[in-house]
Amino acid sequence: MRNLARALGEVRRQTIPNWCPEVNCVSKTEVGAHARSATPGDERWYVVPLCRGHASQVGQDLQISDAIRLVSADVSETCGK
Ligand SMILES: [Zn+2]
Repeated sequence: MRNLARALGEVRRQTIPNWCPEVNCVSKTEVGAHARSATPGDERWYVVPLCRGHASQVGQDLQISDAIRLVSADVSETCGK
């Protein structure tokens, strides 16, 4: 879980949205969750801040606002600057 903690730190240094980025959701963000992009060919995992409700919906597709910048959960990318 060390990678996740670091990636969440990355998220915090950016603008953390106050509200869940799911397009139809109006709940506050409370937790960071691992998610994969729906972009074809993009197999990486990302960390996204979500409300508790959406973070608990493991394995379900979410429609995330384009305003959210995805942070890679791959430690080699978040550390290898
Ligand atoms: Zn939500």
